[in-house]
Amino acid sequence: MKLLVIEDELKLSEYLRKGLSEEGYVVDVAHTGIDGLHMATEADYDLLVLDGMLPGIDGLAVLAALRQSKQTPVLMLTARGQVEDRVRGLQGGADDYLVKPFAFSELVARIQVLLRRVGGARGNGEPTSLKMADLEVDLIRRKATRAGQRLELTAKEFNLLSLLLRRQGEVLSRTELAEQVWDMNFDSETNVVEVAVRRLRSKLDQPFERPLLHTVRGMGYVLEVRQS
Ligand code: CA
Repeated sequence: MKLLVIEDELKLSEYLRKGLSEEGYVVDVAHTGIDGLHMATEADYDLLVLDGMLPGIDGLAVLAALRQSKQTPVLMLTARGQVEDRVRGLQGGADDYLVKPFAFSELVARIQVLLRRVGGARGNGEPTSLKMADLEVDLIRRKATRAGQRLELTAKEFNLLSLLLRRQGEVLSRTELAEQVWDMNFDSETNVVEVAVRRLRSKLDQPFERPLLHTVRGMGYVLEVRQS
């Protein structure tokens, strides 16, 4: 899931970028309405976090311009007491709003609700959950279960599992996993992928009879059901 945060306050935008990345989202940040509008129009984001008060063109103007071409879900941030702005935001096509200052956990909860709502309405769009054998991953609630038991995964482990599951049966190299999950160019000296795979495996496979995550020597990893 890819998010765009449009917020001019550097401290807040950095806090959001860091926090939402830790939650497992891929996050881009724009510091002006112009930049944000350009990025939101050019690229496909799953959701925008849009501040109302921006220098140059403000949040409402960004929203109005965006809605001419895109229906990306928008969560607006508004200052306390600006009821009028909020009403105009919702009328202008914002999907939800949050009043500053807000608790980070509430922001995350609102984002999840919005993504779920949109995912459900989208119908034939991207799947919101993935399954293989007794493994089930809910991409919106970011919850993984095996045989009905919840797997306690970190954000990176969850992303790793989702990617392997989305491309089940396909061998994915360490380089590809590093690029897709960690957003980094792979340095062959780094064993971050191996470490994460080992941790994921201890949660995903160890407690269960049949392993799903397999190492293909010299090539990478694959998630698949194998005959024993
Ligand atoms: Ca602002």
